[in-house]
Amino acid sequence: MAKDSSKTPKKSSRTASNPSVSTWAAQCGKCFKWRKISTQEEFEEIRSRFVEEPFNCDNKPNASCDDPEDIEYDASRTWTIDQPNLPKTPSGFKRELHLRKDHSKMDAYYITPSGKRLRSAVEVATFLQQNSEISNISVSDFSFKSPKIMDDTVPSIPVVANSNKKGATSSTK
Ligand SMILES: [Zn+2]
Repeated sequence: MAKDSSKTPKKSSRTASNPSVSTWAAQCGKCFKWRKISTQEEFEEIRSRFVEEPFNCDNKPNASCDDPEDIEYDASRTWTIDQPNLPKTPSGFKRELHLRKDHSKMDAYYITPSGKRLRSAVEVATFLQQNSEISNISVSDFSFKSPKIMDDTVPSIPVVANSNKKGATSSTK
C-alpha cells in the first residue's frame, strides 16, 4: 500500500485552472461503482438523505448495477468526499467549494441571492438578521463542513516540499 511508484507527477495544469468542483458523483451501495450526478442540486438532494436512503444505481434513471462505472476513482483527478446528510442549499443561495492551491483543504461558502459571500455560520446569522424578510430559512440550513480530500488522488505538487513519504500516515504516527 505504501509503495505507489506509479505516482508519476501528472503535470496537468488543472491545479491552477479549475480549483472548484467539476464533477459530482455518488457511489452505489450495492456494486460500489461510481455514478456521475449531473447537477449540484441533484447531488445535494442525494447527500441530504444519504444515511436514511443510501445511494444505489437504481436511484439513477437508466442506470443499473450491470452498467460499467461512469467514472473511475483514481488519481487522474483530485477526489473529495463529502459528509452525508448535509442540508440542501436553501433556494436562491449557491454553495461553492474551492480547493486550495496546495490541495490541503476545500473551503465552503455560500453566495446569497444578492451575490454576497458568506464564509461562516456567524456571517450567515448576521446576514439573516439584516435580512429579516427571509424567514423560512435558518442558520442550520447552512453547513460549512468541507469535504475530505482524498490524499491518494492528490497530484504530486512541489509545494509539499517536506520529505514525508506517503503511507507514513498509516505506519508512523
Ligand atoms: Zn450499483
